[in-house]
Amino acid sequence: MDKRDFKDYICRPFCEFFREGEKETLACQGARIVGQLVKRGRLDPDSLPGHKKRPRLWKEYNGTLYTHLCQQCSFRSEDCDFRSRNGPPDSEPCGGYILLSLLKVEGIITSLDIEEVAFE
Ligand code: SF4
Repeated sequence: MDKRDFKDYICRPFCEFFREGEKETLACQGARIVGQLVKRGRLDPDSLPGHKKRPRLWKEYNGTLYTHLCQQCSFRSEDCDFRSRNGPPDSEPCGGYILLSLLKVEGIITSLDIEEVAFE
């Protein structure tokens, strides 16, 4: 996955953890799954920037996102306040999680789309 591409449509618009120049060669599982859906032609990056964050979506438990994003994510143990037991209570998830939760609730993708690319 080309980091320059997904930084533009996932990290900068949606991720509060993103810092220019830091860990740019790494991708969390949320960004990786969005990148796979784009690679398959299931998502068009040009149609994504219009979405707005909806905190209600990540305050509710979502089994698909928990299982296929967070449980598989290399950032989970040390770098993710959202999934940390000791993180601030108002922590946001990563941009990929936020974007996928929006796309799911808007019916643009399904849980099956996420499951299909989670282990690629
Ligand atoms: S919310 Fe945290 S653990 Fe879950 S996919 Fe994003 S960075 Fe990884």
